[in-house]
Order: sequence, then C-alpha cells, then structure tokens
Amino acid sequence: MYVGRFAPSPTGLLHIGSLLTAVASYLDARSREGRWLVRMEDLDPPREMPGAAAAILSALEAFELHWDGEVVYQSKRHHLYAAALARLKAQELVYPCFCSRKTIQAEAQGMGTDGFIYAGHCASLNADMSVCSEKMPAWRLRTGTDITGFTDAIQGYKQQCLSRDVGDFVLLRADGFWAYQLAVVVDDADQGINHVVRGQDLLLSTPRQIYLQQLLGFSQPAYAHLPLLTNTLGQKWSKQTQAPALDLRRRETLLRQVLTYLGQPQAPEVDSLSDLLSWAVQHWQLKRISPQAIATN
Ligand code: GLU
Ligand code: ZN
Repeated sequence: MYVGRFAPSPTGLLHIGSLLTAVASYLDARSREGRWLVRMEDLDPPREMPGAAAAILSALEAFELHWDGEVVYQSKRHHLYAAALARLKAQELVYPCFCSRKTIQAEAQGMGTDGFIYAGHCASLNADMSVCSEKMPAWRLRTGTDITGFTDAIQGYKQQCLSRDVGDFVLLRADGFWAYQLAVVVDDADQGINHVVRGQDLLLSTPRQIYLQQLLGFSQPAYAHLPLLTNTLGQKWSKQTQAPALDLRRRETLLRQVLTYLGQPQAPEVDSLSDLLSWAVQHWQLKRISPQAIATN
C-alpha cells in the first residue's frame, strides 16, 4: 500500500510553497488509495515559531486536507535517532568531531552541496574517544567515493559522489540537536513511508538520505521533488523571504492556484472545497508537473 507524508517544520506558518507541497503529497497519496501522514519536524527549537505547529495543522484542516492516524512529532522520537546512531557507531561508520566552525572553514575542501566540505580533521577518531572528552562532540558519518544516484519522478536522474560533493556530514550536532538527515531517514522507515513528495530544495539532500538508508538496511522510498515556487526575484518563498501568510478566506482560490502551478487541469465549479479536492484526486497526474521553478507574486 502507498504510504505518503507531509513533513512541515514549524518554523513559520503555512505559505503558498508549503501548501503546494501539502496538496501535491495529499493528491498523489489519495489518487493511489494511499495513506497520507503528517509529521511535525520540530527538531530545532531555536528556529521554531511558537504556535506554528498548531497553526499549520489547523490550516491543513481548513483546506480539508485530512491526514491518517496521529500526527507524529520528531521532538518525541529522540530515542529512535539515538538507536540508529548507536548502530552506525557499532559499525564504525561515524566518528566524533570536535572541530570549531573556524577549523572546519579554514581546512574546508571548498564549498559543496551543503556548505563547507569537511576535510576530515577528526576522521581518524573512533567512538571511544568521545568518552574521554569534556566537550560534547558532533557525530559525523563517513562518506564514500561511490556514486549515489536515483531517479526522481519529476526531476529525472540525479547523482552525487558524497565524499566529493558533500563530505562527511553531521548526524548529531555538538549542541545536542539531531540533524534533519538522520531523523528523516529513521522516521520515513519507521512510519513505512514508501513515497516522498516534497519541495525541490530537498533534492540535494536525497543522496545523503539514500546512503543512510543503505547503511541502516532500510528500503528506499520513491521520490518526487516538486518545482520550487519563487517570488518575482527568483527567491524561494520562505520565512526569510517573507512569504505572505495564507488568507484562509480565499481557500478555494488558493487551492485552484496551486493546482494550476502543479500543471493539473482546470476544475469545474464546485459546491465545496472537499468537492474540489475529490475532483483533483480523480484527475491527478504527477507527470503533468513541470520540473522548473515557478515564479509567483
Ligand atoms: N521538514 C522539511 C521542511 O519543511 C521537509 C522534510 C521532508 O519532506 O523530507 O522543509
Ligand atoms: Zn572535527
């Protein structure tokens, strides 16, 4: 059975970009008689906005995007991430890293997909060495020179060589917070997610997630990365670019707008939002979605 999900971070309210992701993942799941789960990615309290999680959920309800089961909160699942890290430690696939930001920057082998490429200063340390230290280390995953590739349902074939393009990456930060990359892989596997439909900004994270799935013996979900919605300056809509809050009185217009961005056919007049969604489920075709970014205003 198809199991999909929407996994917002409660760093701000739902905006047009996150609505697009919610609607697309919902329609893809429902059109395949699948389950659609909601997971709140509240792993980084300093970046969160008080009340955002509840506001996102009530916005989803207002749009008649009803999820299956209980909402899962990553903040309550640290034990699962710790168990996965312990398995990687036992296989010596991770090592403690005591480097300061300064060292990382000074020694970096250039900029990669996700910031500075770690030069491996601490790569010869093993797990035991973290015990003797007073400082809490970050934990990094050893990356290899193999090519990690996958075929995305919207963006086509993508590949990375993790050691060259990203470098050994952090799974647990020195400040004690779990990295998104580990949490998402553990949760997708634990929740039986087999289809991931999400924003294009995460395309570059996918090879890291596939690599982690392979090391942890998890199966690989199918991926579809949606086109990015940008403002007229070509910037991704986000809290930083001041994405306007959605006007919930204009729900039908907003839904129709999102369906147009997704390349779906124009729906007829309807009596209710749920009729509009049912129509969209029946006519949903993932292959109509264009891979290119869409400028909105
Ligand atoms: N929480 C992530 C975000 O809001 C999405 C994670 C995912 O879909 O894998 O950007
Ligand atoms: Zn280090």
